[in-house]
Amino acid sequence: MQSYCAALHITHSFFEYSMENLSKLLNSKLIDKHNRHLNYLRISITDRCNLQCSYCIPRNLIPKLRHREILSYEEILRLIRIGVSLGISKVRITGGEPLVRKGVHGFLEELTKINGLSDISLTTNGVFLKDNLEMIKAAGIKRINVSLDTLNRQRFKEITGHDVFNQVWGGIELAHKMGFDPIKLNVVVLKGINDDEFIDFARLTFSYPFHIRFIEYMPMGNSRMMADRQMFAPEIKNRLSALGKLIPVARGINDGPAERFKFEDAKGEIGFICPISQHFCNTCNRLRLTASGQLRPCLLSDYQEDLKVALRKGYSDNKLAEIILKAVRHKPSQHNLSMNSSAGLSGQMHAIGG
Ligand code: SAM
Repeated sequence: MQSYCAALHITHSFFEYSMENLSKLLNSKLIDKHNRHLNYLRISITDRCNLQCSYCIPRNLIPKLRHREILSYEEILRLIRIGVSLGISKVRITGGEPLVRKGVHGFLEELTKINGLSDISLTTNGVFLKDNLEMIKAAGIKRINVSLDTLNRQRFKEITGHDVFNQVWGGIELAHKMGFDPIKLNVVVLKGINDDEFIDFARLTFSYPFHIRFIEYMPMGNSRMMADRQMFAPEIKNRLSALGKLIPVARGINDGPAERFKFEDAKGEIGFICPISQHFCNTCNRLRLTASGQLRPCLLSDYQEDLKVALRKGYSDNKLAEIILKAVRHKPSQHNLSMNSSAGLSGQMHAIGG
């Protein structure tokens, strides 16, 4: 009887969940020419970052945007509400470094009050994480991603230009103690720089329930890093096999593009995000809003729509929605980066937010 009830409950909640998703899908206007349902908006709230990662910050420093050149929190919240009315249900706050923008606390609180958002997360380099965790929790955000490319303090300094590894790690440990779950650690894979640490990162999943995400480096935006630093997922998996068999983890409904695995008896997971070796353009559900109010339907294309100008010309919600729909219509079927080429993109990762 008990197991019958449990089965009924599972079926019922699955049914409810899929009905809810189905109705969102049917009501969504954000379906592109290639039948992709774009329900995920990544928002960069600042172009400023307190780290200077060699693979992210461009060779020729670009002047920082002045305050009036970036969207105000009110403007961002208005665009999110319009996005939700069109079909956005998932939002990630990124940067630059989101935790360096003043007033981020109040913004996150307002964000979590918006009806219709079922998933809100934050990506940070972790430097100010410790001091902000209470505020992030109080705002209602449960999921955080921390970018961490090395577990070695000296190397961290070499990659980022700042000797703050201990601060970042302290923030991650505190987030874990405070019950944030999952905590994803994003590792951009760089040949000759951190490829001797894959095993150390993977070992963390035996002691912590962290999700380690190995991300293929995308050469773009005139960064100081060379394309020959690239390494692809098959080679990483091969190296990790020294730790045991990678067991595939079933995909969840809200999953991103990561291919997920687990080692037997591990608390955490390993994931691979392979925009180059195994691009996931056919399932891409993302739109990106830059700090300067540009809406980009593809990270790896320079096409964008200027929502800031439209906002500041006093456009109505309907007119702003039309611009969003135009960007959706222009989402390319796939990007042009391949294992043997780099697309000459002018877009800067630190400004778009990854
Ligand atoms: N400051 C925040 C952080 O560190 O997570 C958010 C912005 S940062 C641009 C977002 C992510 O993009 C980071 O995980 C970073 O490592 C990643 N990233 C930057 N440049 C990249 C590149 N060329 N290829 C792949 N990932 C990159």
